Amino acid sequence: TPTIGVLALQGDVREHLAALGAVGARGVPVRRRSELDAVDGLVLPGGESTTIDKLLRIFELAGPLRDAIREGLPVYGSCAGMILLADRIAGGTADQRTLGGMDVLVRRNAFGRQVDSFEADLEMRGVADGTTRPVRTAFIRAPWIEEAGPDVEVLARIPDRWADGTMVGDAAGKIVAARTGRLLSTAFHPEITGDTRVHGMFVRMVEESNREGVR
Ligand code: GLN
Repeated sequence: TPTIGVLALQGDVREHLAALGAVGARGVPVRRRSELDAVDGLVLPGGESTTIDKLLRIFELAGPLRDAIREGLPVYGSCAGMILLADRIAGGTADQRTLGGMDVLVRRNAFGRQVDSFEADLEMRGVADGTTRPVRTAFIRAPWIEEAGPDVEVLARIPDRWADGTMVGDAAGKIVAARTGRLLSTAFHPEITGDTRVHGMFVRMVEESNREGVR
């Protein structure tokens, strides 16, 4: 059973711990360096990326986490976590930093006012569970990926039309789930819809990295 940390400085930590437990991992909150060193993988939860960025620096976790990512720690970032994993951000505050690791440009709060928060069924690659059932997702003042480098595998995009037939508008075609090596990010929150397949996918990534044992 892999031990997977959830960065517990701010954001929806409990929901991620529950989702990890539901797919057979041991989820543990991570607030200090020693806790970070003890996990096989880490989830960066949704929340407020500027706040998490500040707290990462105050808790002296930003440097160690950046190093861990470079050394191959599997990390899954959801929403604010996607922002933290991005090499570049648009719409960040002046002093906002990211951890980086994914060669993407992420736009914060990208979905306009009308659709600030919404749920949607999305086709997502890599969540193979023998069905083609789309993933139930929740977007909460979510970012999207505006540009992705060649090593980034696109796992999900916003469709051109919503399920009720209405046109999507600006968001159509935008990347909302991606993977680079051992880094996974989603603009949405799967942890609050009860659909645990994205967490299942991340647990498989962590198990694979444990088998490879590079770190
Ligand atoms: N809008 C938030 C940010 O910029 C992200 C929202 C979320 O994580 N649900 O950090």
